[in-house]
Amino acid sequence: MATAPLELEQVTPNVYTTTKLRGCNPSFIVTSAGVVAIDTPQLPTRAVAMRGEAESRGPLRYLINTENHVDHIFGNWWYRGAGEIVMHQALYDIFMDPKAALDPFDYALEAIPTDDPDAAPLIPDREFYYDNLPRGTVVFTGDLTLRVGDHTIRCLWTPGHTPGQLAVHVPEERVVFTGDTIFSGCQTWLMTSNVDQWLEALERIRALPDVDYVVPGHGPVVTLDYIQTQRAVLLRWKAAVADAVSKGWTREETIARVRFDDEFGPVDVGQGYMMDHIQNNNAGSLWDKLSATGYAKGR
Ligand SMILES: [Zn+2]
Repeated sequence: MATAPLELEQVTPNVYTTTKLRGCNPSFIVTSAGVVAIDTPQLPTRAVAMRGEAESRGPLRYLINTENHVDHIFGNWWYRGAGEIVMHQALYDIFMDPKAALDPFDYALEAIPTDDPDAAPLIPDREFYYDNLPRGTVVFTGDLTLRVGDHTIRCLWTPGHTPGQLAVHVPEERVVFTGDTIFSGCQTWLMTSNVDQWLEALERIRALPDVDYVVPGHGPVVTLDYIQTQRAVLLRWKAAVADAVSKGWTREETIARVRFDDEFGPVDVGQGYMMDHIQNNNAGSLWDKLSATGYAKGR
């Protein structure tokens, strides 16, 4: 199979990522005792290529998943057999759940015809995928520190964007991988989120020592200064919907009127057609949480 080269970006001497793929920014850290991967490409040919890049630098020892959204975990299939799979308990509990309202397997495959047309031979059938997909093998609550060769891999529980959200801090490289706690230069998805927890997560990351580079879940690599921008996006969404609720706007009115299409950048790579989906669901989910009706339903 012809696979186009990945646009691999070397962030530090031992840290690599790619920020130009549809889906998350999969990454890896090269240590003296093997490679630690962080999230996997959603697109199958890209997952195969990314694993190849990682394994060309050493054996894969660990794969850390930062959240349950399919663009971070669906590609685990193509990392089978590549070391321990590390995740928070709150991710493990909802990891690729075939009974979810939105089937994660089908949802992940939506991107294939347009974004990875050569992938068909790599894709197992649905039942085989779910039956054989490796789940977490190192599952924890709170935080977890891995010592791999000369590197310290600090998995920090930073819930908010999702309940099992992790940030991965590698002080020796002066890097933190935030997952989707940061969307840099592109629209923020917050419909499955607890925005108040998310704001706390940002402060925890902002307070980390030894950080020169922030590898976000989506968008280009940034610095800790970007925390302020992400915080402002969350605060503006929440304030705008709170204002709508205070005026007595219905859910439908709020969705129609509270939009940030033009202010927070484009949608990340390959998903421009989802702008309405993001705007509608961000506004609607916040309305559910902030309105009296939402409180009554325990949202
Ligand atoms: Zn996400």
